[in-house]
Amino acid sequence: MVHFVGAGPGDPELITVKGKRLLEEADVIIYAGSLVNPQLLSYGKEGAEIYNSAEMTLEQVLAVMERAEAEGKMTVRLHTGDPSVYGAHREQMDALDRMGIAYDVTPGVSSFLAAAASLKKEYTLPAVSQTVILTRKGGRTEVPEKEDLKSLAEHQATMIIFLSVGQIEEVAADLAPSYGWDTPAAVVYKASWEDEKIVRGTLKDIGEKVKAAGIRKTALIAVGGFLGDDYELSRLYDGTFTHEFRTGTERGK
Ligand code: SAH
Repeated sequence: MVHFVGAGPGDPELITVKGKRLLEEADVIIYAGSLVNPQLLSYGKEGAEIYNSAEMTLEQVLAVMERAEAEGKMTVRLHTGDPSVYGAHREQMDALDRMGIAYDVTPGVSSFLAAAASLKKEYTLPAVSQTVILTRKGGRTEVPEKEDLKSLAEHQATMIIFLSVGQIEEVAADLAPSYGWDTPAAVVYKASWEDEKIVRGTLKDIGEKVKAAGIRKTALIAVGGFLGDDYELSRLYDGTFTHEFRTGTERGK
C-alpha cells in the first residue's frame, strides 16, 4: 500500500495526526526534498528507507514504490503542503492505478492556509471578497490562456499566487489594471518555518520590497482587499441574524 501524505507547510507540528502516524509506520519514505522540512523525517522508524524525490524522475519514484510493494512494504509518499495543490500528484495516482497498486491520500495544511495564519488575516471578508483564487503565473509550466492573471484579476477576489515570486513585478503589473496599484499585497516566504519572512506593501511597491528582501522562491504572493481593514461584520455572529444554531438575541428579535 502507498500512502500519499500532505506534510504541511513546514513546521513539523503542522502535519496531521494521521499523517504522522503513517510516517511512523512507513518502511519506505519518499519525500519532496525541495520543500518538505527534513525534520519530519525524524518521525520515521529506525531502518526506514528514505528517498528524496527532488533528485528522482517520476519513473524512479514509481520504481521504488513498485519494489516496496513487491516486498510487502508500506510506503509513504510525502508531499509538501497538501498534495492536491501543484503536487504533481495525479500522474502518480494514475500510474499506480495502471500498475494495480493500492493507495490512499491523507490531506495536509497547504501553504496558502499557513500564510493566512502568519498574516493573521481572513481571506473571505464580508463586502470585500467571498472568493479565493489559487493560481500561478505561467512559467516553464504553462497556464491555460483563459486563466491568465489579467483576466482572473477582473473579479478583484482574494488571490493567492504560487510558484511566481521570481516574477513578482510582472505579476503586479498584470493585476494592477483591475485591482488598482494601491491594492494591498503581501509576500510570505517559508510560512510556518523558523526563517519565515513577511513583506507587506501594495501592488506598486511589493516588487521592489521583495527584491530588496532577497526573496526568490518558496513564497506566496497574496493580493486583495482582505489585507486591508475595511469590511463588514460577519452575519454569523450578528445578533439580528438567526440561523440553524441560534434563534436571535433579545436585542435582535
Ligand atoms: N502542495 C504545496 C504547493 C507546492 S508548489 C502546498 O499545498 O502548499 C510549491 C510552491 O508552494 C512554492 O513555489 C511556493 O509558492 C509555495 N509554498 C510551499 N510551501 C510554502 C511555504 N511554507 N511558504 C510559502 N510558500 C510556500
